[in-house]
Amino acid sequence: MEERADVVIVGAGPVGGYLAQKLSSAGLDVLLLEEHLEIGRPFQCAGLVTPSAMTKVGLESSILSSVWGARIHSPKGNQVIVGNEGEIKTHVVCRKMFDQGIVAKAIEKGSRLWLDSQPISAEYIDDGIKIEVNRGGREVSVVASLLCGADGAHSWVRRYFKMGNSKEIMIGFQAEVVNYDGADGLLDMYTGENVAPGFFAWVIPSGKSWRVGVWSTVKDLNGRSCEELYYSLINHPLWKERFANSKEVSRYCGPLTSGVVSRPVKDRVALFGDAVGLCKPTTGGGIGPGFEQVDLMHEGLISAIKENKLSKSKLQVIAKPLKHMKKDQNRARILRNLYLSDCNDDELEETFATFAKPNVVEMINEVGDIEKPVTLGIKMLKEVPEFRKMAVSATWALLRGD
Ligand SMILES: Cc1cc2nc3c(=O)[nH]c(=O)nc-3n(C[C@H](O)[C@H](O)[C@H](O)COP(=O)(O)OP(=O)(O)OC[C@H]3O[C@@H](n4cnc5c(N)ncnc54)[C@H](O)[C@@H]3O)c2cc1C
Repeated sequence: MEERADVVIVGAGPVGGYLAQKLSSAGLDVLLLEEHLEIGRPFQCAGLVTPSAMTKVGLESSILSSVWGARIHSPKGNQVIVGNEGEIKTHVVCRKMFDQGIVAKAIEKGSRLWLDSQPISAEYIDDGIKIEVNRGGREVSVVASLLCGADGAHSWVRRYFKMGNSKEIMIGFQAEVVNYDGADGLLDMYTGENVAPGFFAWVIPSGKSWRVGVWSTVKDLNGRSCEELYYSLINHPLWKERFANSKEVSRYCGPLTSGVVSRPVKDRVALFGDAVGLCKPTTGGGIGPGFEQVDLMHEGLISAIKENKLSKSKLQVIAKPLKHMKKDQNRARILRNLYLSDCNDDELEETFATFAKPNVVEMINEVGDIEKPVTLGIKMLKEVPEFRKMAVSATWALLRGD
């Protein structure tokens, strides 16, 4: 059997689904391949979706709660509250409803979806690319003009075409609990070597339950598992009261890739979302950046597909915005390392003492933007005397953007 499509997208996650919507809307024949039997499972996410990302897909019906601020805790328990009450910073969604809503819209626009389907191999043919697909146990050949990998952190497309690796791979672990003693509209962030080496742990209100999570890198974990960090958090002498009545209802873990890979496109092949390494180094969020990538590239792709001009050099021009995204990621990573990841607990205590000052909280509330953390990070380096000494070491790295 041989099928034809203009574009084959491997992975019907939020980014693959959003890409399929855009390409189908332009009249292209899009085939989405999804290895699972349903969309949106397994769930491996805290479900934070910023208002601007939500506007792009119009899936407000998937919102479980909305968050206006954060209570950030230092290793020794000092607390800083940031945010302006009533000003929503992020939504918390049911990922199953969110992902299914996106893919349903792609289908409405004309995309085809094959569940229980994975690519096995791919080869270039005259004027196209031929993909062998395992469709529910049957082998089917699909000939397409373009193959897109939106197949997540472990992307088959990225590995098959040797397109490089992300700079950082974080491991996330999360439990859904009921009866956490938190505050409505606020997410809690905990720091310190014990609970979140190099990063932070979170508790996010998600409607009737709470999402308790940790993330870190293999290097920072230094032999521990994320599950151990989670137990350190819920049994921590300073925080255990908040978890005293909580009951776990489910748990999950997954990888996050941060750092755009060195070869995001090849002849007739392009990577999107987690597959290309788009998660933010500061928060791990990958949905917003994935949508942004699609927004920045889809018009160029549509023309190139219609003209069947899909050489590596043509795709490199279309993928140019990824260079800027990579630069932004690098800057955000440098600032994250400076304020958080490279600090020991004593240094973090000092940073928190400065964060807690009213003028700094005011600055965070005025300039702070989950989407653009670099602006705030640089402003603090310039204007907060306590942080100025760090500016020297940051300056060269920021200028180089590496
Ligand atoms: C613990 C944790 C918490 C997170 N919290 C947030 C958050 O709050 N906000 C946020 O924005 N991001 C968060 N992320 C990151 C977020 O989950 C991803 O950035 C986002 O899902 C990326 O979307 P995607 O479509 O690129 O990839 P994915 O969502 O991974 O989708 C890829 C799809 O491809 C399918 N697939 C994979 N391989 C194949 C194959 N070979 N053949 C066919 N199909 C395949 C998968 O089944 C999946 O459906 C979190 C991640 C983790 C691990």
